[in-house]
This record gives sequence, C-alpha cells and structure tokens, in this order.
Amino acid sequence: MTKRLIFLGPPGSGKGTQAQKLSEHHQIPHVSTGDILREAVAQQTSLGKEAKDYMDKGELVPDTLILNLIQDRLSHDDAANGWILDGFPRNVNQAAFLEELLIKLNQNADCVLNLEVPDDVLVERLLARQRKDDNEETIRRRLEVYHHNAVPVIDFYHQKQTLKTIDGNQEMEQVTKSLSEAVS
Ligand code: AMP
Repeated sequence: MTKRLIFLGPPGSGKGTQAQKLSEHHQIPHVSTGDILREAVAQQTSLGKEAKDYMDKGELVPDTLILNLIQDRLSHDDAANGWILDGFPRNVNQAAFLEELLIKLNQNADCVLNLEVPDDVLVERLLARQRKDDNEETIRRRLEVYHHNAVPVIDFYHQKQTLKTIDGNQEMEQVTKSLSEAVS
C-alpha cells in the first residue's frame, strides 16, 4: 500500500534509524536531506561546496539549495508509490513548499510523525556518537536551530490534524513498535 510519511524529530532522536526501518518495511524510499547533503559534501559537488560551511556550523543550509533537491527527488519514478521524508521540512517555508509540490504531484502525505526526545538525552547521545560535525558547541547549536524552526512546523501540521507524536525516549524496539502502530 502507498505510504507517504513526513518524519520530524531532532538530531539524535533516532529518526534516521527508525526512518530506515519504516522504509524497508513499507518498501518506500528513505529520503534524508541530511544524507543527501553529506554525500554531496563527500563528493565535493557544487551543492556540497555551498552546503558545507552551514552544516559545519550546525545551521540550516539555505532553502534555495534544498527545495530543488526535494522536488527532483519526489518526482523520481521510485517515489511514485510512497516515500518517507527524514529531515525535511525543517521550517515553515519548506513545509509550505512541500504542500504545493504535493498538489502538483497529485499526492497526499498520509501522516506526519513527530519523534520527541528531551534535549539532555539528545546531547548525551550525540556526544557519544561523535560524527565529524558533532562537537558539543555544534550539537547545542543544531538543537537550538532545530527547536527554533521545528516549533512552527509542528504547529503548521497540528492545525491540519495529521500530526502524531511518538515518545523517542524509550528502548529502540519500543519506538519501532509505537511508530508502526502510528503508521498502520
Ligand atoms: P540532519 O542529518 O538531518 O541532522 O542534517 C544535517 C545538516 O544538514 C543540518 O544540520 C543542516 O545543516 C543540513 N540540513 C539537512 N536537512 C536540511 C533541510 N531540510 N534544510 C536545511 N538544512 C538541512
């Protein structure tokens, strides 16, 4: 069955891992803007070169770099029967763009999932993970940027009554279970 899922949640919430599981379970592409950007940085493409400084500082990259990318990705053949968006939309402008894009593509999001984890748990997890862009200052900045932009996005979807909030501060298997119940 077609599944189109928008997956919100802060860095370190386990969103990437859970999105991958949902993607495999429902056989839909996992579209992670963070992964696409990291790949572009690694390949030193023009997108990667433009995005790198923002990412290193924990800031969002400008919408102009992201919106085309998402439009291309969702217009791809393999996205015709569903997708899970991970890391997009990150602000209300992106959410409004997505809404317009879905109308153009004649698609509807089935569900918006919001994975919640307290900040102190996130900092602990992210410090333990220590990705290249994860030092404590960048981590705190990424969380600050996330919350600043996510609150209005969550509000945007709340008003449409499609938002389901999941407690991400549980054992991983339990989070997976809660998410699959929310999606089914
Ligand atoms: P993530 O792996 O989703 O935490 O993304 C890593 C970094 O990529 C973020 O800190 C941003 O710099 C950038 N990024 C990812 N997705 C977006 C987006 N939708 N809009 C702007 N920047 C993004």
